[in-house]
Amino acid sequence: MNVSQIKDCYGCGVCAMACTKQIITISLNSNGFYEPQIQEIDRCTNCGLCVNVCSYSHNELSLKNPRIKSFAAWSNNEEIRTKCSSGGISFEIGKLLLQQKYKICCVKYNPQNNRAEHYIAKSIEELSASIGSKYIQSYTVNGFKEINRKEKYLITGTPCQIDSFRRYIQKFHCEDNFILLDFFCHGVPSMHLWTKYTQWIKQQMPQITFVSWRNKQNGWHDSWAIKIKGYKKTNQKDTIYSSRSQGDMFYNLFLSDTCLGKQCYQNCKYKCTNSSADIRIGDLWGQKYATDQKGISAVITFTPKGEECLQKLNCTMLTESIEVVTEGQMKSNPAIPYAYNQVMKSLNNNQLSIIDCIKTLQRESKKERNIKRIKHPIRTLVNIFNKLKTKL
Ligand SMILES: Cc1cc2nc3c(=O)[nH]c(=O)nc-3n(C[C@H](O)[C@H](O)[C@H](O)COP(=O)(O)OP(=O)(O)OC[C@H]3O[C@@H](n4cnc5c(N)ncnc54)[C@H](O)[C@@H]3O)c2cc1C
Repeated sequence: MNVSQIKDCYGCGVCAMACTKQIITISLNSNGFYEPQIQEIDRCTNCGLCVNVCSYSHNELSLKNPRIKSFAAWSNNEEIRTKCSSGGISFEIGKLLLQQKYKICCVKYNPQNNRAEHYIAKSIEELSASIGSKYIQSYTVNGFKEINRKEKYLITGTPCQIDSFRRYIQKFHCEDNFILLDFFCHGVPSMHLWTKYTQWIKQQMPQITFVSWRNKQNGWHDSWAIKIKGYKKTNQKDTIYSSRSQGDMFYNLFLSDTCLGKQCYQNCKYKCTNSSADIRIGDLWGQKYATDQKGISAVITFTPKGEECLQKLNCTMLTESIEVVTEGQMKSNPAIPYAYNQVMKSLNNNQLSIIDCIKTLQRESKKERNIKRIKHPIRTLVNIFNKLKTKL
């Protein structure tokens, strides 16, 4: 039994870390999502460890009997709050745990590989690179493989990465050394989207050195905004700012849900309060804090360890009901939209640019609206006919 038969999984990479023969690699599949592959299959002993730690292969979550407490929270450090996606809670947790001799396994953008990657931060300076959500699937393998199970770590990641990670530390009886943090997760878009988007950016700025996916220069509620820094062809420094409210193409495609991983539509088990983490964070979008422009984090703790960690933070923490904390969050998985097949086809086509993909999205969305318009009167007529039939 091994992961060689698994397709369209979460691509969390925990199988590659767990494999004692080190024969599992994680690479992008044709749709642009990470997936395991077994190299040298004849060296596999079928020990089953890779499947054992794989959250995709299990229906139930690895954390049993969660004890849920929920909060609205933000960092008391204004600079941190401004730089982070919502209230800066994940950075504050990392900072606190560094002081307690933990190492932090978190995610940064690597401009050389043009991707998000897990890495180990051992100082505040190193932790700073984890600030901000990178709305692409992270490559976990190098970061995860550096972990020494005998030392203490905070692990941050998507809920599926964290669920597999808990299976791994349960298997090796070292849960006490780890604190796990995940977030409400919308889903991850195809890496083909990010590649095409940055190809377009590189026409103006061939060298990218920094990317922030959530920029608050126009306030938190307009922070679906990408700021990219780098160098022009002339070697001069340059900055590009592009927000969803002004039609940013990355966000248009990502948030239309037309290019998420198959696993995000069909197999995500982690919406709302379903988590295997000690702590879950997110954006608190509800009515109660609707006028805030700096950013409020939604925080849920599931374990006494998670609760204890929050008590010591340099943050404002307000106990709120779970309804307030999860207002505006996805409560179920997105349905596969009408435009999905055509948008994915465009993204998979090397000849097409991000502008072509946006045109595909617009064309398919228009078709869908027209179909609905035609279907609506027909459905109304059928309903009237059925009602008349039952009356007769
Ligand atoms: C793909 C994705 C989808 C998300 N969907 C939602 C959602 O639907 N609703 C919601 O409320 N919040 C969502 N979030 C979380 C949200 O963007 C903020 O991270 C959260 O509000 C916490 O903000 P912060 O200010 O504490 O931290 P931030 O400064 O944003 O900290 C980000 C933390 O997330 C980790 N991280 C960043 N990028 C990735 C990545 N690609 N993979 C794994 N870990 C990463 C970092 O290591 C860091 O610990 C999503 C995040 C990602 C990456």
